[in-house]
Parts: sequence; C-alpha cells; structure tokens
Amino acid sequence: MGDRERNKKRLLELLQAAGTGNAHCADCGAADPDWASYKLGIFICLHCSGVHRNFPDISKFMTHNGNLRVKAKFEAKVPAFYYVPQANDCLVLKEQWIRAKYERQEFMADGKVVPPPGNREGILWKRGKDNAQFLRRRFVLLAKEGLLKYYTKEESKGPKAVINIKDLNATFQTEKIGHPHGLQITYRRERHIRNLFVYHESGKEIVDWFNALRAARLQYLKMAYPELPESELVPFLTRNYLKQGFMEKTGPKQREPFKKRWFALDPQERRLLYYKNPLDAFEQGQVFIGSKEQGYEVSEDLPKGIRGNRWKAGITIVTPERRFILTCATEKEQREWLESLRDVLCRPLTPLHVPSEKQGLGVVFLTEAAGAESGCSSR
Ligand code: ZN
Repeated sequence: MGDRERNKKRLLELLQAAGTGNAHCADCGAADPDWASYKLGIFICLHCSGVHRNFPDISKFMTHNGNLRVKAKFEAKVPAFYYVPQANDCLVLKEQWIRAKYERQEFMADGKVVPPPGNREGILWKRGKDNAQFLRRRFVLLAKEGLLKYYTKEESKGPKAVINIKDLNATFQTEKIGHPHGLQITYRRERHIRNLFVYHESGKEIVDWFNALRAARLQYLKMAYPELPESELVPFLTRNYLKQGFMEKTGPKQREPFKKRWFALDPQERRLLYYKNPLDAFEQGQVFIGSKEQGYEVSEDLPKGIRGNRWKAGITIVTPERRFILTCATEKEQREWLESLRDVLCRPLTPLHVPSEKQGLGVVFLTEAAGAESGCSSR
C-alpha cells in the first residue's frame, strides 16, 4: 500500500467513524468510493470523479466536510420528481446530476430558484420505425393535459402521435440505442407496448426531457391518487428493466425450432416482453409473470425430451396457460435471468396499495395482462 493509499484509508476510517456517510459515493451511492474531492471534502467513485475533474473551481470548501454534510448543503431541495442516479445508471444521468448539484447549484436551500419543468417543446432525434434512421422530430409535452405529442415535418398534418402520460415510461438505454444519450420512451397502444428511441446531442437537454416527463407523471399521479403521499408515487414515475438480453425460445408446441429473441423484463408491470430485434417498435409477444400463489413458476433446465438449439442453459416459465421454454447463451446469463424472474414472482401482485383499483399507476393487473398473453400477440 502506497502513501496515498494509506492516507486515503486512514482518512476514510476517520470520516466513517465520525458518521459522515463516506462509505458510499456522494453522488451516485456506489459502495466504497475510491476518490476524494478535496475541494468539496467528499468521497466519490471513479465515474463521478471524472465529472468533477472537468469542473472549474466551484467553491472553496473546507476539506473533509464528509459526504453527509456536503449532501445536506447541495441536496437541500431536490424536487421529488428529479431522478437521482444510482451506481448502475448511465453516465449522462450521473453527469447531469453532478452538474445540477454543484455547478448550477439547483438544489441548495439559498440557491437559484429553478421553476418546475411544466410544459416543454423541442427537437429530439427519433429512430424511424421502419428504416432505423434517426430523424429530427418536434416533441411537445403538455404537462397539465398529461400529453406528449410529436410531429414530423409537416406541422399542418397534426401530430404523428399523441401519447398519454398515464401510460408512459422513459428509461435511458444508451447501450441498446448505441448513443450515450439514448432514451427509450414506451407507451401502451392497444394491447401492445410501443417503443420510441430518441436522443439529443446535449446531455443536459435529454436529462431535462427525462425529468420533465417524470414531473408530468407525478402531476398526473397526484391527481389520480390524491390520497397517496408523494413518496409512494415517486417509484412509479419511471422504471428500468430488471434485465434485458438475448435468449432463444421455442413455440407453444415446443417442437418448433428455437429462435433467438431479445427479452426485456419489466418488473413493475410484471411483463417479460420479447422482440425479434432489440430496437423493434413493438414486441412480438409478452409473458405475464404472476405470483407463485397463482401457479406461476420458474425453473432452470428444460423439460425432458426438449433440447435447445445452439444454447443449452435452459429456463422454463410455467404459467397457468402454458409453458415457455427458453435457452441462454451462458450459465451466467441463465443465473441472472432466473434471479430476476424469481424476484418478480416473489413480489406482491399489486405493487401499490390501491384496493378497488383494477388498473393502478399505469400498471396492468392480472386480468388484462393475462388476456394479452393468451391473446397470442405473436406476429
Ligand atoms: Zn459515483
């Protein structure tokens, strides 16, 4: 251990002993942060330190304030809708959070007053449904009306789509989209889930859009569920997939050849969606993942007599209607899928405590989703 390492370790021990919250990155919460900002007196992880290094001198703070005290100062009034990134989130979310916090000082008690997002209008690059090309599209968010619209060039023809905020989700999918600011917007269209893939060259612009959508969702949910406290609504503003990736699946007879498909597991709506290609506009099919009590099961391996094609690591999902037979490329993938699916199986069926509400916060409950599944939405 070198001097620098030793000093850091000692400092970390001292600060931890003092209960300053330094066991986690001050910006994204990653465990065991390895870097220190001596300007701010905080410990941060490698990724977040990269953002800090690009800053001009923000403010002269005494050293070693400790994460908790600095957080209290810079995070005094983070709006409820604002997405605070976690360790596994993409860089653009972390970078904009750190800039908003220290550089623009948007959340300090005595800082600038930032008006809530409300309506928003601007150009985003949107991936074409059929030709995979990204084209400029004008997006308009009407927060009070709870609508997001987008227009192609000819404005006179009216919006290309009018999306209800009630059914909308947004999730950064930088890898899948192949752009560091890639955002996936999903919404319900009849029994299917429509995907839009967009980005903006500016990290601030795309994260502002993301938070504006979250703010609009919060506004809608507060109206729809006035009896629920804000803190119970916040987890329903946007959601990430629990796991995504390729698996191979066979058909309902289980004699059909295995075909490679892209799968995405939405834990909140309890849907396992599958696609021919990761960036398809619509899913090819979906499997509702109910609860154990209702007879849903997930197991490793394949039923007797069934063999995968190229991939051997099997997963069997048993639903009251049928069995879904899948194979993974590696045992690691198989383990991760099993864990994620079991995680969903173990969750209580109604994610919100809203009795008498069949359809909650954009969440599809059993009856409808089971219909979608047995309705064979395969194309
Ligand atoms: Zn971090």
